[in-house]
Amino acid sequence: MSAEASATAGAATSAVDAGDDAAVAIVGGGPAGAVLAARLATAGLDVVVLERSPAWHWRAGGVFTSPAAVAALRRAGLDAATLAAVARPIPAMRVETASGTTFRLTYGTERGGDPAVGFDRSRLDPILLERAVAAGVDVRRGWNVTAIQPATGSLAARRPDGRHATVRAPVIVGADGAHSVVARATGVARPVRLDPRIGLTYHLPDPDPAGCRDARMLVLRDGYVGIAPVAGGRINVGIVLGRSWRPALVRVGARAVAEAIVKAIPTSEDDPAAWRDGEPIDTVAGAWPLGHRVTRRSGPGWLLVGDAAGFLDPFTGEGLHRALVSAELAAAAIVALHRGRGRGHGHDEAFEAYDRTMQRRFLAKDAVSWLVQAFLARPLLFDYAARRVAARPSVRATMGLVMGDLIPAYRALDPRFLASLLAP
Ligand SMILES: Cc1cc2nc3c(=O)[nH]c(=O)nc-3n(C[C@H](O)[C@H](O)[C@H](O)COP(=O)(O)OP(=O)(O)OC[C@H]3O[C@@H](n4cnc5c(N)ncnc54)[C@H](O)[C@@H]3O)c2cc1C
Repeated sequence: MSAEASATAGAATSAVDAGDDAAVAIVGGGPAGAVLAARLATAGLDVVVLERSPAWHWRAGGVFTSPAAVAALRRAGLDAATLAAVARPIPAMRVETASGTTFRLTYGTERGGDPAVGFDRSRLDPILLERAVAAGVDVRRGWNVTAIQPATGSLAARRPDGRHATVRAPVIVGADGAHSVVARATGVARPVRLDPRIGLTYHLPDPDPAGCRDARMLVLRDGYVGIAPVAGGRINVGIVLGRSWRPALVRVGARAVAEAIVKAIPTSEDDPAAWRDGEPIDTVAGAWPLGHRVTRRSGPGWLLVGDAAGFLDPFTGEGLHRALVSAELAAAAIVALHRGRGRGHGHDEAFEAYDRTMQRRFLAKDAVSWLVQAFLARPLLFDYAARRVAARPSVRATMGLVMGDLIPAYRALDPRFLASLLAP
């Protein structure tokens, strides 16, 4: 894609006032923004996406998802061949504690369900954005949004040539990730109520690129490391570290810390040593502080989707699935608004409904994520629970399905489930 790819909206019709640049301006062209944009353009709306990066590059982010994210991509229109090229099947996630307890979480594969996958984001993200362009979206790469004014429906951006521009749209969507400028400008961004953590991610070459192996999640002292085989012959390393790692990070740097952690990962029959010594394919990308929350996901004239709408921690499989589902729900809200009503009452109604639906949809999963974080912060407790999960197949099965967003998350909050998990 060129530095500033754009496409005119073919048969698009829009309800925007004369002089508006677009009916909908989306800040951020990651998976959430790209999928939302394509859905809106397909529904006939005039959409502009402003994406800060002139070209795709690896940023701190996730690749491992349950089959629910694959199903969401299918609903977004990706065909089987494209999915096969970007997603590598992973039979299970193996969780390993420091004291040696291990259990495997599957996502219903033993009942014939699809497996989890490791995505090649270097292919997936550009494909999603290209699909948006093909649907008629005006995708402007290299446009960095610096300020927004939802009340007047305008946003300020720095263009690739360094000049400043104003884009006007009655609907502004923040799809700009965890440090969302839209969430901050609308006053809804808040820090997560967890001790600050750093996330580090990068890829190593996979000497067995077609191998079918489990992903691994190893719990460390004050952190954890996830290892996932991904499409494109690579291994993704994702590390989350708490405050006690800060002196080491300052002293020797993120890459040296990450490499030392990776080299210390024990080998297993399923996971031989070879990949550990590979040269990183991309820079060790960091996210600090990891996670953010929002008090609302919409207001008059604006919506948040994807990580911009809140992101706690990747341990429980948050991220891509939620980004794709929020894009679907936001598309329905924006299309409903444009089909039926103008600004004012109808506007608030459609967008408030989006906020409520998002909250309902993810409230229980958020509670599960908080519960897991509480256990992670207490290694003895985590180890105790891990030993019970390892010994109890039905607990393990429910946990895998909840983590994978394949059954309602409140099932893991049911007192009977918690009793069967924690009873000695
Ligand atoms: C360390 C780490 C590990 C993770 N592991 C997992 C995992 O295992 N599984 C999982 O499902 N998820 C994981 N995630 C989360 C996952 O990466 C995100 O949920 C997913 O990328 C969200 O997509 P998005 O489109 O909302 O945001 P992003 O992918 O972050 O895209 C946001 C886009 O907005 C652009 N942007 C930002 N600011 C501006 C601006 N001012 N102007 C214009 N453009 C802007 C950015 O350049 C970017 O392209 C992880 C995240 C981290 C940080």
